[in-house]
Amino acid sequence: MPRNPNYNSIPAFHAKLARSRRILAVCGAGLSASSGLPTFRGADGLWRNYEATALASPKAFKNDPGMVWMFYAYRRHMALRAEPNAGHYALAELARQNPEFLCLSQNVDNLHIRANHPSGQLKLLHGSLFALKCSSPTCSYTEPENLESPLCPALAAAAVDAPSSPTEIHPLLDTTKPLPTIPPSSLPHCAQCQTALLRPGVVWFGESLDSDMLADMDEWIRREKVDVVLVVGTSSLVWPAAGIAEAARGPGTSVVHVNVDAESPEGLARLVDKEDFSFGGDAAEVLPRLLEPVVGRWDEERGEFRR
Ligand SMILES: [Zn+2]
Repeated sequence: MPRNPNYNSIPAFHAKLARSRRILAVCGAGLSASSGLPTFRGADGLWRNYEATALASPKAFKNDPGMVWMFYAYRRHMALRAEPNAGHYALAELARQNPEFLCLSQNVDNLHIRANHPSGQLKLLHGSLFALKCSSPTCSYTEPENLESPLCPALAAAAVDAPSSPTEIHPLLDTTKPLPTIPPSSLPHCAQCQTALLRPGVVWFGESLDSDMLADMDEWIRREKVDVVLVVGTSSLVWPAAGIAEAARGPGTSVVHVNVDAESPEGLARLVDKEDFSFGGDAAEVLPRLLEPVVGRWDEERGEFRR
């Protein structure tokens, strides 16, 4: 029996929300899955024949920057073609209505920003597909937002729209055809040091999260009691979501899990407090319903909240 017998009751959550001021959200790939972007976990974990995790590392970039860039150029293009969903819009509206709401996101797809989430209330834990930075450890060059697709002519094969028919495969994902070989000289180079390659401004496996951002996040969490932590689209087992939710937990804090597996036996086992909630479902559908008392009713046709 879950700790909270009303673990998936929307009215019970609304009652909690009405008593809540400081709200933290930690978002993962599941939030963008209903915008059509793969999570690159589980069955989605492969890109061509490669584990996505094996392409997202400094070592992979050193070995074959052309292939790693092709993977990111593809993801940039798909993210540009995707649209924010009602979950992104609900979080952005919550931020406008509640200055004490902070959204932390592991997503690098720019969809929070495109949903007009107030920038002071959004922290991108893993950076952005659209940020570029110099790959040299001794050079500080960064470009916060570059929306070009393709980023350079050599990456044009990645900047192709997905076929409209679900039975057709994106030409770049067709493993019967070899990936074009891209020499490093034709990849984008740093404008500052003029020698090193530019790389995606995302946090790779084996790299640390930005220390200033972590310090800001810590300060926000410690400042005062956090009433609600929304863990959205991520199994809160994976760091950083798990660590952040527990760091923010105090007496009376509700940790609220919103993801497709949240009501599975494993999901319910993660409820540790009688004030915790678990809502199994698509974040794009569940979040607007959970936040309706604050943000209004989502009008799918007009793409806005109405009161
Ligand atoms: Zn440089």
